[in-house]
Amino acid sequence: NQNAAGWNLQNSYTSLPEAFYTKVSFNPVEAPNTIVVNEQLAKELGLNIAELKNEGMAAVFAGNTAPAGGEPLAQAYAGHQFGNFTMLGDGRAILLGEQITPEGQRFDIQLKGSGRTPYSRGGDGRAAIGPMLREYIISEAMHGLGIPTTRSLAVVTTGETVYRETELKGAILTRVAESHLRVGTFEFATHVRGKVDEVKALADYAIKRHYPEAAGEDQPYLALLKEVIKQQAALIAKWQLAGFIHGVMNTDNMTISGETIDYGPCAFMNTYDPATVFSSIDRQGRYAYANQPRIGGWNLARFAETLLPLFHEEQEKAVEMAQEAMYGYSDLYQAHWLAGMRAKLGLFHEEKEDEALIGELLNLMQEHKADYTNTLVALTFNKLEDTGMNCAAEFTQWHEKWEARRGRQEESKADSDELMRNSNPAIIPRNHRVEEALAAANIGDYSMMEKLLTVLKNPYAHTPEQAEYAKPPGPSAGDYKTFC
Ligand code: AMP
Ligand code: MG
Ligand code: MG
Repeated sequence: NQNAAGWNLQNSYTSLPEAFYTKVSFNPVEAPNTIVVNEQLAKELGLNIAELKNEGMAAVFAGNTAPAGGEPLAQAYAGHQFGNFTMLGDGRAILLGEQITPEGQRFDIQLKGSGRTPYSRGGDGRAAIGPMLREYIISEAMHGLGIPTTRSLAVVTTGETVYRETELKGAILTRVAESHLRVGTFEFATHVRGKVDEVKALADYAIKRHYPEAAGEDQPYLALLKEVIKQQAALIAKWQLAGFIHGVMNTDNMTISGETIDYGPCAFMNTYDPATVFSSIDRQGRYAYANQPRIGGWNLARFAETLLPLFHEEQEKAVEMAQEAMYGYSDLYQAHWLAGMRAKLGLFHEEKEDEALIGELLNLMQEHKADYTNTLVALTFNKLEDTGMNCAAEFTQWHEKWEARRGRQEESKADSDELMRNSNPAIIPRNHRVEEALAAANIGDYSMMEKLLTVLKNPYAHTPEQAEYAKPPGPSAGDYKTFC
């Protein structure tokens, strides 16, 4: 029975004009071997792991055999990379199809690292085990933190070698997403293709797939823009609240669905510093922690530009409409961020001085090189010595002010404490912990990765076993650099 594994794949992307994709054939690999599979996610997708294993699961997740109903394709897209416009596309990924879950939801099933496509340019289309497992760990950690993200279903090794200055083990990640539509997909339609009917087809597809209620609006395409602005404002606020630095916020890495995508050079901040940059290629700090909200706005402006012809036939009117929508972005972002920070500090309702109170704490953290995550946990459990700032008079003053503020609300202290526990993660995927797990995995020991994945699943649990993973790296790790 072909469908015993639960595949229920459709291929709606092929309803778009042909320019948006290329049908491809598989590039089989030497010796596929599954090294991690997300059983819970598989179940949510309606997949039966036992049957998948019977059918040769590794072969499917390696792109050696097609799952029932899958018609592999590579998507075309463009994008602004570090501000420069360029043609891109799936150069090392293929879309197997869209899995319809038992609940009727539609998810892209994509293989990343699956070989060359017509969009590979000079690349080999392959990926190494380290970056694929890194994406698996961090994307699943993001999900655990409650941050919208693409998911990771499996990683298989290929039995082949990839060359990245040195010889590395090849691997393929199965990525699951509400869709892989990007701002860059729209830039491809408008700036590369330049055909209004194709932009319209793409926008209609995005509306149908992600924002069906926009179809009923007087201005459906403006409604689409506003929805994407809303989702991205909420998403980027969540990144800031968690101390997540994406690292490569190019427009091809910004989704229309509002999911975080592309875990290349991302990393979580340890000591609080708005200027934190991890990516080795981000020499100007364009994608530094503090710049992320503004860059989000810049990317959304590029998105808005692609839709102008759909807003109004008169360019001037269209621009006015786009600008009006864009004005909403920073207010939306700020409101989400402020609400999130209030929750982190156990505050239920708004007071005018809250922003200043929050700002003072962040300044103290920066001044004292305090660990962002652990300072908030220390406040949650009233372990002031763990903030590393308890000897500073300004911190004591701040703490008194905050406790007074917490006293000025109807909710009990216990409720406030609970709000803080649910808003401040005990653990984040610390770079040194991720690297350690990857190094072990690279020599065939997956136990550290499995342990790490387990504790990252419930970051708000605050269990004793998480304490070990909460420790920041030693001072020598200050120069940590990530690579794409
Ligand atoms: P990224 O930096 O992951 O957002 O990728 C940027 C572009 O480079 C995308 O079009 C990728 O498909 C392409 N790309 C990245 N790595 C490879 C590779 N090894 N082979 C071919 N294309 C690649
Ligand atoms: Mg990318
Ligand atoms: Mg990448």
